Amino acid sequence: MPTLLARHASVLVTMDSQRREIPDGGLFIRDGFIEQVGPTATLPETADDILELNSHIVLPGLINTHHHFYQTLTRAVPAAQNANLFNWLKTLYPIWARMTPDDIRISTQTALAELALSGCTAASDHLYIFPNGSRLDDEIQAGLEVGLRLHASRGSMSLGESKGGLPPDSVVESEDTILRDSQRLIETFHDPNPGAMVRIVLAPCSPFSVTANLMRQSASLAREYGVSLHTHLAETQDEEVFCIEKFGYRPVAYMEILNWVGNDVWFAHSVYANDEEIATYAQTGCGVAHCPTSNMRLASGISPILDMLRAGVKVGLGVDGSASNDGSHLLAEVRQAMLLARVRAGVSGASLSSDAASELMTARQALEIATRGSAAVLGREDIGSLEKGKCADFFAVNLNQLPFAGGLHDPVAALVFCAPVQADYTVVAGKFVVRDGRLMTIDLPGLVKAHNRASIRLVSGL
Ligand SMILES: [Zn+2]
Repeated sequence: MPTLLARHASVLVTMDSQRREIPDGGLFIRDGFIEQVGPTATLPETADDILELNSHIVLPGLINTHHHFYQTLTRAVPAAQNANLFNWLKTLYPIWARMTPDDIRISTQTALAELALSGCTAASDHLYIFPNGSRLDDEIQAGLEVGLRLHASRGSMSLGESKGGLPPDSVVESEDTILRDSQRLIETFHDPNPGAMVRIVLAPCSPFSVTANLMRQSASLAREYGVSLHTHLAETQDEEVFCIEKFGYRPVAYMEILNWVGNDVWFAHSVYANDEEIATYAQTGCGVAHCPTSNMRLASGISPILDMLRAGVKVGLGVDGSASNDGSHLLAEVRQAMLLARVRAGVSGASLSSDAASELMTARQALEIATRGSAAVLGREDIGSLEKGKCADFFAVNLNQLPFAGGLHDPVAALVFCAPVQADYTVVAGKFVVRDGRLMTIDLPGLVKAHNRASIRLVSGL
């Protein structure tokens, strides 16, 4: 059983139950799991591989709870640059409809490469369009080559324009096909065990692109197999109006009547969740994937994340699809979460109160959302903190670099406040995905070339 000793980190942030930050800290790893964590002096002195981390900060691997990898092919598309959600989607659906299985593979590796280089060790992806023979299998196989843990969501769209939905009929699937494929994927790929590299999630896309029947059937199939449920919810005011007009309910109430609440459910966005709906999330155990950059990019609004945390809602972080971000830098997203929560506090006047500090999201709170919070949202107890028995998933950043110059009074906060940098080391299950700042598992220059070729073909329609 291979061992890895990572030692002499300037500070090791555990995110354990006491939130210990250990000076001159380290980890002793055996067979992909953490065997010991503590000051370097307390750890074994030898191992199969030794990583010296002087001048580095070490944290639990960041966990991404919402993404659409395929959208890396349609970043900054001119016609979709200045649009709100519904117009952005209508512009992009016909472009996405040209994708092939190869496009899914290339874009999966591009997104995961960006995530790995920004400190991410586990990611959920939401693939809900399967044109030209594409399958979720294409994403899973490509993802395994990169080496991050993957929660692959079998997304779906069944409510086309002719039935009052938003997507064109050409990109929706029949409900029988969706449910049969969902079952096949769970039986083929889902690993419920601690240390799992692949889990399957069932994820009808949004209230405006699937039927109530598909939502109900997906929930019962997921619960039969013990897999999680995920969808977009309460993202925009347009969606709220759509739900009230078409179904007679606000989005969260609609989820309740569909049996779509519980510990096994998490929603992307929830920008438009009121106090009563936040209380429903807390009582039922629903999680939220907060995607601050996407919410700004599409002018959707500001999610009440601090209110959710105070109410006891599980909140994780997501970069969202790369056509509405337009990047997959998860450490940058931590910064965005902190800053956007402060904009909300400012707009509401809370930042002017005498105890303003308690109204402002801190750097450590933002990091906690992206680690412990995201792990809870994905339903995982084996990741999200650096503790004995947990998965050996961590990243390290060299503090001796320009963006942190003058910020080393508090390196943990500097990592969030200062300009986002790339990880020098990203380790998943004790294996290096990034080492000395370089991706170890795939040929990055070749991937970028292939990705650009695919993107130009897709957007030009040639
Ligand atoms: Zn999304």
